Amino acid sequence: MSSPVPIIMHGAAGRMGRAILALALAEPVRFTVIAGVDRQAGTLRALGLDSAAPVLTALPVEPGAVVIDFSHHGTFASVAAHCAAHGMGLASGTTGIAPAVLDTALDAAAGRAAVLHAMNMSVGVNVVFKVAAQIAKTLGVAYDIEIVEAHHHHKKDAPSGTAFGIADAITAATGRTRADLVHGREGEVGARRQGEIGMHALRMGDVVGDHTVYFVGGGERITLGHVAHNREIFAQGALRAATFLGSARPGRYRMADVLGL
Ligand code: NAD
Repeated sequence: MSSPVPIIMHGAAGRMGRAILALALAEPVRFTVIAGVDRQAGTLRALGLDSAAPVLTALPVEPGAVVIDFSHHGTFASVAAHCAAHGMGLASGTTGIAPAVLDTALDAAAGRAAVLHAMNMSVGVNVVFKVAAQIAKTLGVAYDIEIVEAHHHHKKDAPSGTAFGIADAITAATGRTRADLVHGREGEVGARRQGEIGMHALRMGDVVGDHTVYFVGGGERITLGHVAHNREIFAQGALRAATFLGSARPGRYRMADVLGL
């Protein structure tokens, strides 16, 4: 049995931070929680968690530890630089990071630390990425593909990052690009162009996150769907990533590497 992975939770007081810490603290054989980091100092106990570990206002220097980051996009570059400077792993699920900032920070850190960023840490969604690409490639361009996502009515962006993730997996596997995506349809749009991928966003009530991919052609239909029931699926995925990074060589990894997809 390998020794527990030392973890530091960046964004400890947030919804994801607390969910991840609660799971990690319940599994002391797999994880040692060294500290949380957030904007206010304190203890994990004050956040309602069963631990006397501190909440710091800056990342500590802990070579060999893994930082799990679910915080704010504005801090990503400095978190990645800290991990690289001190040989600490990084598993980040923070969204809203500009693609150029993300790539630059991850590539710069990857020479000295094992780093990973994923728009969606759920194991199931990452399997959907993989399977959607395989189905699209096998069926060929004669099958029409439409992606429909649904989220709660507070969500500000559309379509979701996960819907883009599914589309990106399909376009990469079939030689298409984001220029082939058609967002919603209204008015005299003409007949459907072969190869285009329809993207549709529903906003309603308290839906956590639904994604459905339709593959329709020659008298048949395949429907591939994922429904998120709660945020624990993201927390479980983040801890799987932390376990993987805890023993990985420096480099830039994806959830597909963690899950062996
Ligand atoms: P939240 O607002 O509940 O928590 C964010 C926490 O980060 C807060 O406690 C905040 O104080 C802290 N924070 C902000 N700036 C900080 C800084 N400079 N230093 C330290 N801490 C700081 O949000 P949440 O729902 O927990 O989500 C956090 C992030 O994770 C968001 O970007 C969200 O979109 C993303 N998310 C990703 C996935 C995924 O699977 N990749 C899943 C869920 C949420």
